[in-house]
Amino acid sequence: MRIYDDIQLDYCDVLLRPKRSRLSSRSEVDIEREYDFKWCPLKIKGTGVMAANMSTTGTFEIAKIMQKYKLFTALHKHYTAEELIKFLKDNKKNFKTNGYIFISSGVSEEDYKKIQKVMKTKLINNICIDVANGYSPYLINYVKKVRAAYPKCLIMAGNVVTGDMTEDLLLNGADIVKVGIGPGSVCTTRKLTGVGRPQFSTVIECSDAAHGVGGMICADGGCTVAGDVCKSFCAGADFIMLGGMLAGHEESAGDVIKRVYITTEVEDTGDEQLKYVLKEKYFKKFYGMSSEYAQDLFYGGLKKYRASEGKLVEIPYRGEIEKTILAILGGVRSAMTYVGAKRIKDMPKCATFYRVNRQLNTVFG
Ligand code: 5GP
Repeated sequence: MRIYDDIQLDYCDVLLRPKRSRLSSRSEVDIEREYDFKWCPLKIKGTGVMAANMSTTGTFEIAKIMQKYKLFTALHKHYTAEELIKFLKDNKKNFKTNGYIFISSGVSEEDYKKIQKVMKTKLINNICIDVANGYSPYLINYVKKVRAAYPKCLIMAGNVVTGDMTEDLLLNGADIVKVGIGPGSVCTTRKLTGVGRPQFSTVIECSDAAHGVGGMICADGGCTVAGDVCKSFCAGADFIMLGGMLAGHEESAGDVIKRVYITTEVEDTGDEQLKYVLKEKYFKKFYGMSSEYAQDLFYGGLKKYRASEGKLVEIPYRGEIEKTILAILGGVRSAMTYVGAKRIKDMPKCATFYRVNRQLNTVFG
């Protein structure tokens, strides 16, 4: 048995050090970059923020808004081939390109058949292949198979947390490796299995490994605020996948739930009496893709040999997603001026981090 003694950090363990810079305004920075991939010959211009391929966030509705800002969406894998084809057709007509969209796949024969059906239409070129444990031989074999069948497609594959496996996936046909095991907001893998790695350290190691062999990474999970997205770009992420930060919006899947509760208020009638009042709060359901809730929804229950590695939560309804997207992009722009990076691609080169004990003042919540 071996123990790695190096300190492993999460986004909350570090802060960016501000630097003297010649950038005087946020409008001087360029948050777009041109992505030039290892295998896929097509180039894409955009900002590497991506909606997670969860059934709550990898939705057609979210994709339509994300692409307006040249941001990406990995559609969840529970859409049927017919639903995907219809959406991709309409989207291509209206938006001219499906370049900001990935279709998702597991590694089963059924998944492959669906990919074949959709790819045959030539409406899409981007495929996200993910399994909870990217160290399984099934993933690498599946990546090889998809690469052989579609030499020019853009393949994102994962999830892993180490440099060696990042390189393996890239050398075997992936363009982007999705990294992160256990950092997700509704993930319980670490609780259940004890497996995982703090995400900030994962991003540093895997991006370094990926860039060394001409590939890229997508930092998947663990961002809770715009500042975490900034830290992730600075740590070397080419793409950043967000679940929880994009959940609970109008465009996220699921109904808005109304909860009525009783609270007390002081009546301002001179002698200040307490009165009971009814108030309403609005929520949306958000759940891990391997939670019992999701397994019930999509597979008719939890299989005996499978454990639930995700949870179900109700989160406050947050209205339209556009506001959240703008706040995230605003945060990135601002961080770039703080660290002196004119282009988003320069963020890692410009960034210096402090290791901190406490990053936020939580006195008012
Ligand atoms: P978040 O942005 O919410 O922190 O993380 C989103 C990521 O959590 C997803 O992209 C996916 O990788 C991961 N995830 C989603 N559902 C589950 C689940 O049920 N179990 C685990 N272990 N991870 C999940």
